[in-house]
Amino acid sequence: MSTDVKSRGDSFIPPNNSLTHDGWSNEDEATATCFCGKVQLVVPLKSPGLVNTFACNCVDCRKVTASMFATNFTTLDSHTRFSRGEDHLTTFSQDKTTESGKTMTNGFCRTCGTLMYRKSDAYPGTRFLRVGTVDDLNLHQTVLKPKDEMFVATRVGWWDGVKGAKQWDGVAGG
Ligand SMILES: [Zn+2]
Ligand SMILES: [Zn+2]
Repeated sequence: MSTDVKSRGDSFIPPNNSLTHDGWSNEDEATATCFCGKVQLVVPLKSPGLVNTFACNCVDCRKVTASMFATNFTTLDSHTRFSRGEDHLTTFSQDKTTESGKTMTNGFCRTCGTLMYRKSDAYPGTRFLRVGTVDDLNLHQTVLKPKDEMFVATRVGWWDGVKGAKQWDGVAGG
């Protein structure tokens, strides 16, 4: 795909984006679908529902994404809903490796394993969603582009980080 930032309102949803082909977006909301399509969220694209967008290089994010960093966005639970499949998630919770020491719950699709959200006891009423699950790829580089990059102190050496993002050694604001 082109790296040009398209105007807001254009959407780019490739037909092979998930097995269900029913992703959509508008000015206010967009779908976020797992790989197999059994789980789908409708997520907010505007404040106050959309709280933040960030990339994270912490060790938890490496492990839970099986990659070197995560691209996340934070939403209010009150503005985030499942259009299907909430009961098709399996959850895994632990508090041993989180920076806050609080329990983090991870929600995975039971069929395809896509991580659909993380939810921390340290931030009640919000959840951390994965930019890569959003069906409209244009949003990945516009509305959902990371504003903050966290844990740059543990960023992998071959990557220079998110261009234009505010960088933090640990959590944003910390
Ligand atoms: Zn799935
Ligand atoms: Zn992290």
